[in-house]
Amino acid sequence: MFNPIMARPRHQQTLAAPLVFVGIGLHSGVRATMRMRPADADHGISLVRRDLPRAEGGFTLDWRHVVDTTLSTTLGNDFGHTVGTVEHLLSALSGLGVDNVGIELDGPEVPIMDGSALPFVEAMSNIGVRTLDVPCEVIQVRRPVRLQQGASWAELLPDNTQRITISIDFNLHDIGLQTFCLEVTPASYQHEIAPARTFGFAEQVMHLRQRGLALGGSIKNAILLHEGRVKNQEGLRFHDEFVRHKVLDVIGDLSLAGIPVIGHYRGNRPGHRLNAELVKLLMQDRSACVRGAPQQGVDPNRQPNLEFASSNDATTRVLPLERNLKT
Ligand SMILES: [Zn+2]
Repeated sequence: MFNPIMARPRHQQTLAAPLVFVGIGLHSGVRATMRMRPADADHGISLVRRDLPRAEGGFTLDWRHVVDTTLSTTLGNDFGHTVGTVEHLLSALSGLGVDNVGIELDGPEVPIMDGSALPFVEAMSNIGVRTLDVPCEVIQVRRPVRLQQGASWAELLPDNTQRITISIDFNLHDIGLQTFCLEVTPASYQHEIAPARTFGFAEQVMHLRQRGLALGGSIKNAILLHEGRVKNQEGLRFHDEFVRHKVLDVIGDLSLAGIPVIGHYRGNRPGHRLNAELVKLLMQDRSACVRGAPQQGVDPNRQPNLEFASSNDATTRVLPLERNLKT
């Protein structure tokens, strides 16, 4: 059966000019300089660590190379090296539709900047994106895939755009139950999602630092909660900044598919592990998705083929519970 891809067609994009960012890593605390340069069509997002031997510093930023999802997404390469906290940078690139860029980093972790994607997005918006002469391929979800892990779950459903719906429920005064739904476009991403900062709990800081995590974390790059209340003097950027940051993380983690995923992501209390495993589940199930360039003349407003989309037919997997840290 011919199933045309319903998404709106567009061409691939890259940055209009190089950019440089300097900052510390959230978990390592190590200061690094990150350079981003425009790249040709079909290059994708590449990353090279310049602090490693020349032959060993290259990374492929996709779902096959996720090696750790404790509080952030860490990718590895064949030489046993890693690059940490890639999700906010990948989220910014995906949110603005930047498909091709070469990244050089002289440290082990992407700078956390202010804990959101806003510094990346503002810099990229200021220099602009350049449209390339090659159509952008997408992965369209054809059949639901779902993952469950205790009370947390995440699923991808067929849709004709990238849509995200997330709920979180922290029994804390300044968070509580928050739900956010968004159709991801460059404008919605920039205004509704990019400014939302990561968050952490003062009660966990000592424990995290003993494990070598959050060494660079401070109220300059995260919302800090103590006894359920926000301690940052400037307060929140949105009343529901916490769930918006979860949306930011999901956009970054979904981009590990390698090209845009067209579908409706729904999740309850998702984390990086659940997101990475969901992308893996989608990509390994050939009946769940189709890859290609949306065609001109196909109505993107038409509903995608939902013939197989009942939840009974979903590919469902249950992940074992682990002693997981929140956020
Ligand atoms: Zn995050």
